[in-house]
Amino acid sequence: MSIAIIIPAAGTGSRFGGQLPKQFQQLAGKALIQHVIERFILEEDVSRVIVPIAEALLPSVKNGERVIWVAGGETRQQSVMRGMAEVQDAELIAVHDAARPLFSVDTFHAVIAAAREFGAALPVVPVTDTIHVMNNDAMVADTLDRTMLAAAQTPQCFRADILREILTRAQRDGITGTDEAGLAARFSYPVKAVPGDPRNLKITVPEDLAIAESYLQQWSSQA
Ligand code: C5P
Repeated sequence: MSIAIIIPAAGTGSRFGGQLPKQFQQLAGKALIQHVIERFILEEDVSRVIVPIAEALLPSVKNGERVIWVAGGETRQQSVMRGMAEVQDAELIAVHDAARPLFSVDTFHAVIAAAREFGAALPVVPVTDTIHVMNNDAMVADTLDRTMLAAAQTPQCFRADILREILTRAQRDGITGTDEAGLAARFSYPVKAVPGDPRNLKITVPEDLAIAESYLQQWSSQA
């Protein structure tokens, strides 16, 4: 089996602040993106890891045998699409946020198995906060039933033909989604959810780095 990985990393990380986008912040001596690439590269079935980054950063990186850097786009979806142009004949394509360095190999294997069976799969965690819909005056307009909600994580995995089709269709129809699983469901493809892990957090604000560091320490002391 051949799996291509696309790691969109072209965001500016405006919520994180600072000069350096969050995916290049250091965690335990390595950039977040480096943690992510190394974890995928260890997997034998992974034929290629494609990393869309800001065009200005391309001169500072070098393609390897299995790691290919490309210029990202204006949105995450466009970055993924640009990454897809570099996919060779992979059976499955997984998309993973550059800012999630702590995904487990078990989660990756679970989404692969589910994508092979259902065509598309993602890890999710239950929503523990109550989620309100707000109006423009910061007033609560509605409250969602949280038993119906799940928070999406990555890696999300797709049969290559399905990811190609949904991204092409979304571009044609002018639809921008915040993840690929949502686009697949919108276009009526079955999308299977597998249990995610609360520790697979997306580094969004500086405080998240300290949390991620403590998870890493817990893991290395258990190993
Ligand atoms: O903004 P958000 O945290 O949802 O971004 C998720 C991922 O998509 C991040 O890894 C970010 O770098 C990436 N992204 C991208 N191209 C953009 C915007 C975001 O690759 N134009």
